[in-house]
This record gives sequence, structure tokens and C-alpha cells, in this order.
Amino acid sequence: MEKKTVNKQELHSIIASLPKTEIHLHLEGLASVDTIWKLKQKHELTFDGISSKDDLYKRFKVDTLNDFIDLFINVVQNSFQKAEDILLLIEDARNYLKRNNIVYAEIFFAPSKFVRNGFSFQKIIELLDEGAQKLEREDNLKIKYIMDVSRTFGPENAMKNLDLTLKHKKDSVIGIGLGGAENKGPAQDYKEVFEKAHSAGLHTVAHAGEDMGPESIWHAINDLHTERIGHGISAIQDESLQSKLVETQLPLEICPKSNIITGRYVKSYQDHPIRAFFDKGINVTLNTDDPTIFGAELNDEYMNLLTEKVFSFKEVVQLLKNTVYATFLSDQEKDEIWKTVLPSLTNLGDK
Ligand SMILES: [Zn+2]
Repeated sequence: MEKKTVNKQELHSIIASLPKTEIHLHLEGLASVDTIWKLKQKHELTFDGISSKDDLYKRFKVDTLNDFIDLFINVVQNSFQKAEDILLLIEDARNYLKRNNIVYAEIFFAPSKFVRNGFSFQKIIELLDEGAQKLEREDNLKIKYIMDVSRTFGPENAMKNLDLTLKHKKDSVIGIGLGGAENKGPAQDYKEVFEKAHSAGLHTVAHAGEDMGPESIWHAINDLHTERIGHGISAIQDESLQSKLVETQLPLEICPKSNIITGRYVKSYQDHPIRAFFDKGINVTLNTDDPTIFGAELNDEYMNLLTEKVFSFKEVVQLLKNTVYATFLSDQEKDEIWKTVLPSLTNLGDK
């Protein structure tokens, strides 16, 4: 049979047309340069080295994990001076989800810095929840939040974040995550926080093996009993860990461009372990981490794996399916989303 060839542009529109989910995405990492500039003007903020919007664009182009953490903590998070400012992030999220045809996302929100800036935790959760309802009502976009209790400020602060999350719990808040500087906050220090979250019925996830070796992933599995691993790329150094991941089918939330930019373990799509993990039968999913800061759109990430010849079309569809089934939705809800992907695939014929 004659095989039709599809050019890059057609392929991009096919990818763009497929309904998707995303499970590793930070709300603050969706902040657009426009949003931060707006807040800088509104609150008359000064940031070292930023006097024009152009300077801000440049600061958003990060090359290392430390540059990224600096931008995130010192610029992005400090721009939010009033609880209501969070609503701008919800609008950034709306635009991003629509651009990438993401019908459901589980989004991290890290409250520590906001609380330290004097915001009321209750108010933050109320605004987030209102935002989620608004997106569903107006655009049929479903989002749930995972509160990043953070390893940057120590276990006591993380426990405080958990307690406040439980106290002000809303339906849109479904779990906790452990993000922040992996080298400063070993997972095992957060055992109690995670035990408490589990017994309160919250889902749990942790960043591990993004900036530290496989032992960090082992701790997330054995000490925190997390339901998914954020990144997990250093598992490539440890065969027995890979076997464990195959056996448990614990999903890895892979964010290739983020890993390439921070550059700790990988420098290109070709040497990203996502391919080796996939071949071994590890449950890998595809995500962006911080779209605006890393300049990573989810559609482009699917495309990059194709154009860099790391995956075939059929295989990226499998990644998309994995990402639907690794969400914390009910089995029925997962099936419903997957059913909306199928017709677009059937229409493609033999492409
Ligand atoms: Zn992340």
C-alpha cells in the first residue's frame, strides 16, 4: 500500500488536534512575561537587572536549574503582592491549556513563598478553587491542584503547608507534592508529612531523580510511598530501580525540555532516558514542568520527540495514553478522555 507522507506542519496540527492531559505542571511556571510585567508595574516592584520588558524576557531565558530557581523564587513568586494576583495565573493557565488542547491537568501550586509574603492560605485556596470552577464553566477545562509543600524551607514548613491544606481543603485540591531544591531536602525528611497526607486521603507525588541520583528516587518510593515520581531520570543509572519501576508501573512524569535546559543529566532529546525507559516497559508520561520559563509547549514536546526521531507517531500516542491513565481521575473518567482521543486517531487512516 502506498504510504502517505505527512509534512511537519501537518504533523503538528494532528498532534495539536488530539485531546491531552498533563500531570507535571507548576501554576507559577505558567506565568507569562506579560503577567509578571503587569504585576511589576502595578505594585511598582524593582528587580535587580530588570528595567524593561525586554530585560524580563531575557531573565525568562534560563540555562541552569539555579537560574531557574532564582527566577522562580526571586522574580516570579515575588511579583505576587495581593492574593487576587493569582487570578492572572489562572488566565495564563487557561490560555496554555487551550493552546495545547489539554482537557485535564493536575497542577502544582507552591504556597510557601506566598504565605511568607503574608497572604492568607485560606484566601489562596479559595481563589485557586474559584479559578478551577471558572475554567470548567467557561471553557470545559478541568484542573486539579497538587499543593507543593516544598523541600526548600524544611520539613516543619512542609507540615504547616499540609495542615493548612487539610484545614481549608476544597474539591479541586487533590494532593500534595514535594518540589524545590532536591539537593537541600532529602525525601526521607518528609516521611511524616507524607504519612499524614496519605492517611488524610490525599494523593502524593514527589520530584526525585531530577537533580540527584537514583537514591533520591528510592527514598521517594520507600519512605514517602509516592504514587508518581516527578522526573525520575537518574533511574537510568540503576538497573534494579528500573526493574522496580517496571514491576510497580509507578508513573514517571517526564519533562524532556526542562531536563535539557537544566542540563543536570541530559543535553538533548536523543540522550534523554525517556526512550530507554519506554523500551524497558516503564510507565513514562509526557509533560512540560514550567511552560513559559522553559519555553516548552506540550504540543511541541510531542513534536520534538517525533522530529528528533526519538519516538514514532504510534509511540507518542502511547505516551499520550499513559499520561491520561497516570492521572488521579477515576477509571471511568480516564476512559472517557481516552475515548475522545480515539476518533481523531481513526480519522488519520494510515498516516
Ligand atoms: Zn517540576
